[in-house]
Amino acid sequence: MVMQLIMYRSLIFIILIFSNTTYLEADSYNRLCSYLRNIQNAQEHVNRNTSENIDVTYYGIHLKADNLSAKFEGYTEINLTTKASTQKMILDLSDLITVDSVKFDGNNLSFTHENETLEIDLGIEIEASRNIRLLIYYGGKGRADGWSGIFNETSESWGNRITYTLSEPFEARSWFPCKQVLTDKADSAGVFITTTKNLKVGGNGLLTVVDVDEDHHRFEWRTKYPIAYYLIAFSIGEYVEYNTEVSFKDGDKMPIQNLVYDHPDCLPYYQDQLDAMAQQVELFSELFGKYPYHEEKYGHMMAPFGGGMEHQTMSTMGLFTFELNAHELAHQWFGNQVTCGTWQDIWINEGFARYSEFIAIEYLKSPSEAKSKMKAWHENIFSRSNNESVFIPEASSTDVSRIFDLSITYNKGAAILHMIRYIIDDDVLFFDVLKGFLQQYQNSTATGDDFRDYLNQNTDIDFTEFFNDWYYGDGAPKYRARWNQIEDSVYIEFNQEPLSDLVDYFEMPVEIRLFGEIEKTIRVAPAKHDTLISLHFDHELDYIAIDPDNWILNKEIKPKRDRTIGTKVLNLGASIFDIAVYPNPVGNTINLKGDIGKKNFALFDLQGRIMEINPECNRKQCLIEVVDLSSGIYILKVDDGLRSEQIKVVVE
Ligand SMILES: [Zn+2]
Repeated sequence: MVMQLIMYRSLIFIILIFSNTTYLEADSYNRLCSYLRNIQNAQEHVNRNTSENIDVTYYGIHLKADNLSAKFEGYTEINLTTKASTQKMILDLSDLITVDSVKFDGNNLSFTHENETLEIDLGIEIEASRNIRLLIYYGGKGRADGWSGIFNETSESWGNRITYTLSEPFEARSWFPCKQVLTDKADSAGVFITTTKNLKVGGNGLLTVVDVDEDHHRFEWRTKYPIAYYLIAFSIGEYVEYNTEVSFKDGDKMPIQNLVYDHPDCLPYYQDQLDAMAQQVELFSELFGKYPYHEEKYGHMMAPFGGGMEHQTMSTMGLFTFELNAHELAHQWFGNQVTCGTWQDIWINEGFARYSEFIAIEYLKSPSEAKSKMKAWHENIFSRSNNESVFIPEASSTDVSRIFDLSITYNKGAAILHMIRYIIDDDVLFFDVLKGFLQQYQNSTATGDDFRDYLNQNTDIDFTEFFNDWYYGDGAPKYRARWNQIEDSVYIEFNQEPLSDLVDYFEMPVEIRLFGEIEKTIRVAPAKHDTLISLHFDHELDYIAIDPDNWILNKEIKPKRDRTIGTKVLNLGASIFDIAVYPNPVGNTINLKGDIGKKNFALFDLQGRIMEINPECNRKQCLIEVVDLSSGIYILKVDDGLRSEQIKVVVE
């Protein structure tokens, strides 16, 4: 059958592309997210001298190109505003490009072009706040290797030859002079590609096709929305156009414009996937806020690489799967509308887009399928020996393979968001936070700290420690629990061992589920060590599970029954420390009498939360005020550094 043959060929294509990456299995193509090319030797030279004295307002890229090679020629118009008085300005531009001339006000300017840097001499000192329009004429050809740039390649699966761009993170300079600084978005942009009439061109924004001569036409793509340098893109090839439509809740409609390889089997093969996109746009618009570029379009342009890239308003796609489509679409909010402020904070792009795959599965397929997905991501994270921080350390900030590390940036990044949702424990609030954050930083950039601060300001929860542990810290906790049942009381001894070089304890609420004739789930906030939880459960308990719904990135040792746990608590009269506790039940003050010297006292409630107490002790006696505590059962823990004793105290 034709379909099977195609599927087989697609799979082979994926294997070829990833034959030198170790962590992707042959059948895992549907788990790819943002584009992944050959990641070896991916350490990039990054120009750190780009002008900070200018603010780019517009890129207009006018090129002549086709699908037979990655050669191009033309000019880029850059409109900018001077931020300080200046005579020289520096732009990023690949050494593979030859610059013919740089024009300003009709005059040729002198320039130097070396080390991926174009330095332009304006001839005169220009004062601050001046608007300048530069025209830079050049030509070039793509790189044959490398992570990103401009490519001319043929699809192994479909045979179509395509010229296309992938600029993230540092290779927009491979095809147009630009300022590769994330925080300086252009206010608008245009990509104008003149090509032969057998070809179509995809790009950002809205399209006008202009007839040039008998053999050529020009695809003029214009976007009026702010755009980061690496999100400007085009692709050229023999395409068929297949469009669908989104209906927003407010009645607005918007096209989804797809450029699919002109191959008789390609559109039929992917049509169901493309037809499902309107539903995804509608879902994310509901949860994240209306699609940010709704006055233009969303769309896809196919290009022969193994993944997708979220070019603004038109993602470049090597293939279509439900999850890959959701991922690149979600980037239009997370990555494009709000862009990571530094590459060290790539989580804002990739962690959120990865988690949006989970959300799409949860809402449009089934929650249980989403749960399995999270479980698979957790397993993938733990398959790495060094479970690094999601925040990219300074030393790795230009290391492309570290920035786009699938296990850490994507999977662990998504796991963190899942835990934030769990801690908030209110989906309406969680999605309101996402929406509000996007609104606050729209058309701009944000860092992990910005999201943390937004959380702190808009929930009643302080996420500072959470970010220290999970965003800046490495590793994850290992949970260990033992349990016992004595009549209708269940006792659980809970411990955490952090598997981390940087984090000594992961403060996290933990759910414990009791399985017996009935199921009961409790959420506890364990103290640092040896938390004893006791609760009422008047059914026979068979077993317990820690974090049964897999909210937390953790390793769990299967909890076992230990018949000694809880026995001392019941035995209120006796004490290994020879300390009497009275009265019990207690009203205002617990009295402890006996061998008090060098003992530590701590008081916990039945959820394992530690109570604030201020014991006033001498060698023989201790007084603990409990007048501020609500009435109920508490556990008084006494220890001398070697042994510990737990005593049940009833506060009236
Ligand atoms: Zn991505």
